[in-house]
Amino acid sequence: MTNKGRLIVFSAPSGCGKGTMLAEILKDKNFYCSISATTRSPRRNEVDGVNYYFLTKEDFEQKINNNEFLEYACYCDNYYGTLVSEVDDKLNAGINVILEIEVQGAMKIRKLRPDALFIFISPPSVDELRRRLKKRGTESAEIVEKRVAQAEKELTFASEYDYNIVNAELENAISDFFAVIRAEQLKIQKN
Ligand code: 5GP
Repeated sequence: MTNKGRLIVFSAPSGCGKGTMLAEILKDKNFYCSISATTRSPRRNEVDGVNYYFLTKEDFEQKINNNEFLEYACYCDNYYGTLVSEVDDKLNAGINVILEIEVQGAMKIRKLRPDALFIFISPPSVDELRRRLKKRGTESAEIVEKRVAQAEKELTFASEYDYNIVNAELENAISDFFAVIRAEQLKIQKN
């Protein structure tokens, strides 16, 4: 029998370097990142079915009505949601599934799947976060400020997670992630 994979909730405000961290983590084939559905428009270089399933608002709402989402949330005026079809088959096959989701969705998963592992990624500072978002250049100045304000709110949720990793240096943040995974594997299960 295959051991089940672990569900890992991975949250970070926009601009914390979560995407770069994930790209490194996913080189390890024991990890899969669930592809979410969203109503936001694709950024340049984003591909439907790879980065997200890009849906119209109507299609998204149809999936809500069909109970196809494990969780969904509204973030900066767009819907984002985790499809059930992205999660359970992989977990049953022994693969660890990462949900890269924001805090409202994470709090829903906390209730639905209390056995999940909750990891928060934070920036070294809010100023550094703003600098990284501007440097990325994928959003207008107005959206950058909206995302910074949203990030400040999200940072207050870090204490709801099991671990907080500060992404100051990418390499250190990645090794912290694998240290957490190792510690969880070695943890003694108590009833
Ligand atoms: P972005 O527009 O930068 O790709 O994502 C915006 C936010 O939506 C990020 O914090 C990201 O983690 C979150 N997000 C992406 N997919 C999902 C999802 O399926 N559910 C929820 N609740 N949040 C998501």
